[in-house]
Amino acid sequence: MSGSATENPSFEPQAALEILHRTFGFQSFRGQQGAIVDTLMQGDDAIVIMPTGAGKSLCYQIPSICRVGLGVVVSPLIALMQDQVDAMLQLGVRAAFINSSQSASEQHQIVTACTQGQLDILYIAPERLVQHDTISWLSQCQLALFAIDEAHCVSQWGHDFRKDYLRLGELAEHFRGVPRVALTATANPAVRNEIRSNLALEHAREFIGGFDRPNIRYAAQEKNNERRQLMQFLEPFRDESGIVYCLSRKRCESIADFLRGEGHNALVYHAGLSSEERARAQSRFLREDSIIMVATIAFGMGIDKPDIRFVAHMNIPKSLESFYQETGRAGRDGNPAEALLLYGYNDIVQLRSFIDNSDSEENYKHNERQKLDTLLGWCETAHCRRGPLLAYFGESIDAGYRCGNCDNCASPPTIVDFTNSARQLLSTVYRSGQRFGLAHNIDILRGLETEKIKTHSHHRLSTFGIGAENSAAKWRSIARALLSQGYIANDASRYGAVVLREQSRELLRGETPFTMREPPADTGTAQKKTNTRRNGVGQKDRELWEALRECRKQLAADFNIPGYMIFHDATLMEMMESKPQTDSEMLSINGVGEAKLKKFGPAFLETIKQHS
Ligand code: ADP
Ligand code: ZN
Repeated sequence: MSGSATENPSFEPQAALEILHRTFGFQSFRGQQGAIVDTLMQGDDAIVIMPTGAGKSLCYQIPSICRVGLGVVVSPLIALMQDQVDAMLQLGVRAAFINSSQSASEQHQIVTACTQGQLDILYIAPERLVQHDTISWLSQCQLALFAIDEAHCVSQWGHDFRKDYLRLGELAEHFRGVPRVALTATANPAVRNEIRSNLALEHAREFIGGFDRPNIRYAAQEKNNERRQLMQFLEPFRDESGIVYCLSRKRCESIADFLRGEGHNALVYHAGLSSEERARAQSRFLREDSIIMVATIAFGMGIDKPDIRFVAHMNIPKSLESFYQETGRAGRDGNPAEALLLYGYNDIVQLRSFIDNSDSEENYKHNERQKLDTLLGWCETAHCRRGPLLAYFGESIDAGYRCGNCDNCASPPTIVDFTNSARQLLSTVYRSGQRFGLAHNIDILRGLETEKIKTHSHHRLSTFGIGAENSAAKWRSIARALLSQGYIANDASRYGAVVLREQSRELLRGETPFTMREPPADTGTAQKKTNTRRNGVGQKDRELWEALRECRKQLAADFNIPGYMIFHDATLMEMMESKPQTDSEMLSINGVGEAKLKKFGPAFLETIKQHS
C-alpha cells in the first residue's frame, strides 16, 4: 500500500523546526514534543500520554506537514472538527475534515483533494475511517501518518469507550509502513496497555509526562456557603472565560441563574438540552470572551480554547484523574489560571451511593471506591496539592515537595485534634441505633428537643446535649471528615441512615486519635485575593492592551472566527511588552507565524504605532 516510509526523504530535524518557527511562530518545542515529532518523522509509531493543554496536537501536525502525503487525524469529536480545521487554515496549513454534516458532493471533493495530494491534514471520525469504502480510497493516497486522538476511547473500562476505536488496530495491516501515533490525557496504566494492544502499537515508543501544569493554582475548600465561596473565587476574573462544573442539570441551571443575578455572563451546558442548544452554547463560549459555562462533565472534552482562566467544581468529581483532566482545560496558553474544588458531606454520600447502586461488576466498583477515597484524601490533605497529583500520574517528587502555587502552600492549614467530638458523634450514632440521618444525630448532640427526638425518646440518651458547644455546621464538618476517612457510612437502603464502619471501634475505644483540617469559620470572610495577572502593568500599557484586544475582536468579526484563532492572550501580552514595529520584530513574537503575519500583522502594527 502507499504512504510507506520509503517515499519520504531521509529525515531532517531542521525541517520540523522550520515549520515550528515559520508556520506556528513558536520559538522551541515544549517538553517531549521534539522527540515525538522525530519519532514520527522517522516513520516509527508512538503513544503519547500528556495532560490536556500540554501541546499534543503539534506532535502530529508538524509531521503531517513535513512528511510527504496526508496526515489522517482520527477524532471522535465531530462538533469540534470545524474549529480544528479553521485553526489550521489560519496558519496556512491545507486542512479539511470529512463527516456526515457535509453534502455528498462536498465529501466527494475532499476525497479527490486527498487522492490528488492537495491536503496536509484530514480530520475524520473513527466510525467513518473503518468503513470499507474509506479504507479503499485512502489506499490510493500518499499517507504521512495516522494520529489517533482521544485514544483512551479504545478502553473498555473507561467511560468514553467507543466500539469503533477497537477496529482502528486494523490500520496497521491496511497501511503498513505508515507511522501511527495514539494520544490521550488519560494516564491510567491499564488504559495504556489497552491502547498498546488494541491499536496494534506493540512497538510504539511511549512518551509520558509533562504532567505538571505550573500555571494552574489548585485549591480545595470544604463547603460552608458555596455561593459565597464561588463569588469570592470568581472575583478576580471579571471579563474572563471559565467553567463551573456541577453534578446535575438542575444544579447547573440554578447556579447559572445565580451567577447571572450577580452580573456574570453565564451559559449552561448539560444533557437536558437539545443538541442544537448545546452546540450554540459551546460555540458562544469558544467565540466570545468572558463567558462562564456552567456545565455537567458532558462539557469539555476536546475543547481547546486557550484562555480559559478558571475551572470551579461545585461537587466532587469522581476521581483525581477526572479532576486533573477537567481543570486541565484552564490556562492552556500558559498564563496564570485557577482551579477550585468545593466539597461537602452530601457529595460524598451521593457519589458513594452512585457507585454502590450501579450494576457494574464488583471489582469495577471496588476500583471506583478506591479512586473516590484517593480524591477525598487529596481534599483533606494539609500538604502541597500538586505533589500528590504529580505522584498519582507517575512523576517522582521529593517528600516535602512544595509547589508554592496551591492553597496549602500559600497558607498551610491547621490540623486539629477532634478525637473527643468524633467519639461523641460515633457514640450518638451507635446509641440511636444507626437508623437516623446526620441531621437528627446532630440535633441529639446539640440537645434540641425536636418532635422527632421526643417521639424516639432520644432526649434520654446519655449523649443528648453533650456537644452543644459546637455549631451544627461544625458537626457537619466533623461528620464529613469521619465519612471521608472511612469511620462512618451512609446506608442508602435505610434512607441515608448514618452507620458505623468497622474501623470506628478503635476510635470509640480511645485507641486512635482523630485529626482533621480545621473546619471553616462559621461566618467571617475569607481574605480577598488580588488579580496577579495584570499587576505591574502601567496605565499606558493597559490602554495598549485594551486596544490590542479590540483589534483582535474586530478581526475576529471580519473573518468570522474566534479571537483566539487570531492570536492568544499570551501573544498579545508579548506584543504589549515588546511593542514590535516591523514585520521581522513581529515574527519574533511567540505565536506569530508567516501566514498570520501577512493576514493580521498590519492591523496590530498599526494599533501598536497609535499607542506608543
Ligand atoms: P493538548 O492537545 O495536549 O490538550 P494543545 O495541542 O491544544 O494541547 O496545545 C495547548 C496550547 O499550547 C495551544 O494553545 C498551543 O498553541 C500551545 N503550544 C503547543 N506547543 C507549543 C510550543 N512548542 N510553544 C508554544 N506554545 C505551544
Ligand atoms: Zn503546593
